[in-house]
Amino acid sequence: MEGPRDAPPKGGGGGPKLILCNPWRNAPFFKRRGGDPHTGATRPPRPYDPVRRHLAIEGLVSKREGSAELRRYYRFRADRWYGGIATADASGCGLLCKFCWTSDRALYRPAEMGDLYAPGDVASRLARIADCRGFRQIRVSGGEPTIGRAHLLRLLDEIDSLKGYAFILETNGILIGCDASYAEDLSKYKCLHARVSLKGCDEEDFFALTGADPEGFRLQLRALGNLLDAGVECHPAVMASFSPPSKLEALADRLRGIDRGLANALEIEELILYDRVAARIKRYGLKPLTFHMPGRIPRELI
Ligand code: SF4
Repeated sequence: MEGPRDAPPKGGGGGPKLILCNPWRNAPFFKRRGGDPHTGATRPPRPYDPVRRHLAIEGLVSKREGSAELRRYYRFRADRWYGGIATADASGCGLLCKFCWTSDRALYRPAEMGDLYAPGDVASRLARIADCRGFRQIRVSGGEPTIGRAHLLRLLDEIDSLKGYAFILETNGILIGCDASYAEDLSKYKCLHARVSLKGCDEEDFFALTGADPEGFRLQLRALGNLLDAGVECHPAVMASFSPPSKLEALADRLRGIDRGLANALEIEELILYDRVAARIKRYGLKPLTFHMPGRIPRELI
C-alpha cells in the first residue's frame, strides 16, 4: 500500500526552491570532472518538487480570458500510435525526464512555444483531423495534459458533446496523485481512458530518470489508485528501458497491491532512440538496456 500524502503545496512560499530550468543538465560533470563547468558547484543540485514545478508551469502555459480557459499548444497533427490518433501537442510539463522526446525549447521554455487556444477550438481541430483520417481517438501529447485543469475539463466537455470519440489521457499522474478531487472531476467523462506513464519501476528509477524528488513515484502510483477509486478507466505504462527485469517484477507486485487488474494491464514502454533522445540521454550519461530505432519499431508497439 502507498502511504498517505499531504495536500499539494501552493505555488511560491516555503519548501524547496522552484527550479524551472533543468538542474541535471550537467550531471555527468559531477561524476567525470568533479564540478559543474558553468556554476563551479561540486555537488549535484537537490531534487526538485514535482508538484510545485507542475503548478509553476501551469502559470506559464494556461490563462483565463473572460470565461475562456486557455492553454498553450504548438502543434495539431495526425499520429500513428493506437492505430491512428488525432493529437494536439501542448507545451509544458512539470517533470524533466532525461529521455523525453520533446525539444529543449518545449521542455525548458514552454511559455515560448505555440499559442493559447480555447477548449472549443482545440476540440474542433482534433475532430477535424480525426474525421479526415477516419480516426476515433484523440489525445493531448507533447507536454503534460493535466496542467491547466480548468482547460482540460472544458476540453473534455467539448469532446464528450461531439460523441463518438475516445480521449486517451496520457499523463504522468503527478497532479492526479496529489489531489484525489482531480480524479473525481475526470470521472464524469465517458469518453476518457487514462494511461499513467510511470517513470521507471520505483523511487530510485524515478529520481534517476527525472531528477525529481523520489516521492513523485508514489504520487504516480497514487494517481492510479485515485483514478480507480473515482471509477475512471485507466492503466499503467512504465518506461522500462533503464530497469532490469527484477525491478519490473517488483513493480508488478506493488501494482497488484493497489489493484490486481493494474498489474495485468501494465504496458511496457521502451525507448525510441530518436536523434534528440539519443543526444539527451548521452548528455546525462544514461544507458538504456533496451531501445528501438525510429524506423524499426515493432508493429505491436504502434
Ligand atoms: S512526463 Fe512526458 S512530457 Fe513530461 S518530461 Fe517526462 S516524457 Fe517529457
